[in-house]
Amino acid sequence: MRYLNEIQTILSNIKQKKPVDVGDVVYGKIIAVKEKMIIIALDYAEDNKVLSPADSGIVFIRNVSRDYVKNIDDFFKKGDVVKAKIIEITPFEYKLTTAEDNLGVIKGHCTQCKQELKNNGTAQIRCFNCGKIQTKKFVIGD
Ligand SMILES: [Zn+2]
Repeated sequence: MRYLNEIQTILSNIKQKKPVDVGDVVYGKIIAVKEKMIIIALDYAEDNKVLSPADSGIVFIRNVSRDYVKNIDDFFKKGDVVKAKIIEITPFEYKLTTAEDNLGVIKGHCTQCKQELKNNGTAQIRCFNCGKIQTKKFVIGD
């Protein structure tokens, strides 16, 4: 009985948390980059909203950028931490978009030496450690 009040408080806090909805912003790490999509293991949502723990996020190639995307690999790499917006919720996954300036990679690493890359606000980025030039869809102005 000692912890009953605390348990009740925790339970009511859980009940107050709202599930994510279309239009909400979520964060996660890219676990796979495929030809037509990236798959993201979602970590959390803005405003402390609740994600289904088992669900992952998918960004299809057409939702990567406002511009035409030929190679999704030029924008994202496995391991990048991404900020994206929910455009559809299915029983299996969240469909996401990064086709806005303030959406995209918030943390990425050099493909050659694994050094963390510094977002310079452009698509092309040069690793200050090894000098390798690579492309990434970093968030802009956030
Ligand atoms: Zn490097």
